[in-house]
Amino acid sequence: MEDLQEVLEGIVEHVAPLCRDGAVASYIPSLGEISPEKFGICVAMADGEVYGAGDWQEPFSIQSISKVFSLALVMSYDYDSIWQRVSREPSGTPFNSMIQLEADQGIPRNPFINAGALVVTDRLLSLTGDAAGSIRGLLRLESGNPAVDIDAVVAASEADHGHRNASMAHLLASYGNLENPVDEVLAAYFNQCAIEMCCEDLARASLFLARHGVAAGGTPFLSPNQSKRINAVMLTCGTYDAAGEFAYHVGLPGKSGVGGGIVAIVPGRCAITVWGPSLGPNGNSVAGIAALDEFTTRTGWSIF
Ligand code: GLN
Repeated sequence: MEDLQEVLEGIVEHVAPLCRDGAVASYIPSLGEISPEKFGICVAMADGEVYGAGDWQEPFSIQSISKVFSLALVMSYDYDSIWQRVSREPSGTPFNSMIQLEADQGIPRNPFINAGALVVTDRLLSLTGDAAGSIRGLLRLESGNPAVDIDAVVAASEADHGHRNASMAHLLASYGNLENPVDEVLAAYFNQCAIEMCCEDLARASLFLARHGVAAGGTPFLSPNQSKRINAVMLTCGTYDAAGEFAYHVGLPGKSGVGGGIVAIVPGRCAITVWGPSLGPNGNSVAGIAALDEFTTRTGWSIF
């Protein structure tokens, strides 16, 4: 294999022509202002070594990638009781679809579509009193960067245009699948999605999933079994109705966000983050998926 730094620099060059394919998310207006030309990639090794290329130290909105950390926190407190309120099947529908929620009597298909993430955030709110704050705390601790924070402008922009998420939360409440008031759950959810991080911090913060649940300080945050389960749900549900394509091309558990970021995990080895703001039709970064495809092809680091 080539030197890892060279691999990453080669990937930045390889994906540059793809950066304008697709479109930057505009349904959250303040995300629509980001340049599609940005691209960053970072690999954090399980032993702490970090490699990066492109715009890997520029913060971006992590959006739905936050759903991995809310799930991890809830599982760390509650072990697996959350699975009584949310399933773990791929939905085959867009991340913000409501179509299955009524058919499934208010039990979302998985924790990574918006409906499922709202249930997880609701639980985290009950457990901690401050769901977004506890996610931010985890991210600060695991990344080692105490400056990781919520972008209030992005959170407000999403709240102003959050009719679909609000509908989903009310539908969940009508089935008795929220423990807290709808407005509080929505506020917590918009805030967690609006956390800003760069590829480097996000890769470091995701390493517990590559270390079988062991946190940055060397102590267990999750059990190896829980870490395995989160990786499994990332593989099957982390990129929504493109999870099959993602598994086919990348061959790793991954979680995307509409800010254009994707986290992928090579269990036992490393966490990889990519950021390219322009999204394909399923809400996943076009350049990011191409980069991860290229990464696993060049390194052979896939779970398959
Ligand atoms: N905050 C976004 C939303 O709720 C998150 C979606 C995403 O990143 N896929 O629509």
